[in-house]
Amino acid sequence: MKVSLEFLYHFRCDRCTQWWSRADIEPQLGEIVYCPYCGHENTVEGIQTFRDAARNATKSSCLDRKPDGE
Ligand SMILES: [Zn+2]
Repeated sequence: MKVSLEFLYHFRCDRCTQWWSRADIEPQLGEIVYCPYCGHENTVEGIQTFRDAARNATKSSCLDRKPDGE
């Protein structure tokens, strides 16, 4: 059996607040991303992750802690 890991990045438009997702291609700080709903030109300012919570899943979860780096 083969197992694959997928990274799924979620974006929220600064203007219309709609959400969309992109798989596997990691956003870069300062990258320009156009909203698929309203066309607004957004700039990636930071990437929130819960990787520390996932690594320590027996002690905590992403549901009861803030994203990494906050
Ligand atoms: Zn938008």
